[in-house]
Amino acid sequence: MKIASADFHSSSRTLQDCPNWNLPEFAFIGRSNVGKSSLINLLTQRKALADVSATPGKTKLINLFRINGNWCLTDLPGYGYAKVAQQSKHEFNQAVAEYIEKRPNLATVFVLIDSRLEPQQIDLDFLRWISGCEVDVALVFTKSDKQSPTKTRSTIATFLGAASEFLPEPPPPVFVCSSLKKDGREDILRHIEAKLVEHKR
Ligand code: GDP
Repeated sequence: MKIASADFHSSSRTLQDCPNWNLPEFAFIGRSNVGKSSLINLLTQRKALADVSATPGKTKLINLFRINGNWCLTDLPGYGYAKVAQQSKHEFNQAVAEYIEKRPNLATVFVLIDSRLEPQQIDLDFLRWISGCEVDVALVFTKSDKQSPTKTRSTIATFLGAASEFLPEPPPPVFVCSSLKKDGREDILRHIEAKLVEHKR
């Protein structure tokens, strides 16, 4: 898919503040520092699109970007550092939880996971929670350039094993990306394109 236009649309504090439209939305979420901004910039081929979400006042908001006029990329606040893992269920951000649970035009939530790390409790907790929501989920393992493909495959297998008790059957699609090497972009965009076709039906 060619990205002809990618523009910041709005920041919403709550689900109710989100635009009243039927554009399919593709959301990106993950632990702080997982590489979400880099991935959004890679996908849209805009150097600093996601920096908008990092400007003061916007880091905890639901930031929406309109892509090619016909779909929307949602940059969701990161779910923080280890402290958040001790919080129960979806206390991490009530507005984000509501957006994921209730946004009717939410097409897919891409959950970003650092491919270098052993399964992190915070990611497993989030994935357990989101697996109970009626939303389409895809997993993106980031920063794959930091180690060999064999090591990346093994981390992914370990992660899926740790999450198997709550992941749906079949498990969500898995993407591997490196913003540094510009890997994984086409696969993710192809997935979005297929969902856009489904949405039109
Ligand atoms: P965010 O907090 O999830 O938005 O993460 P950022 O996109 O800001 O990235 C956090 C750090 O990881 C930055 O120093 C990035 O340069 C680095 N980073 C992000 N993606 C990659 C990647 O694919 N490969 C490598 N080697 N570093 C990355």
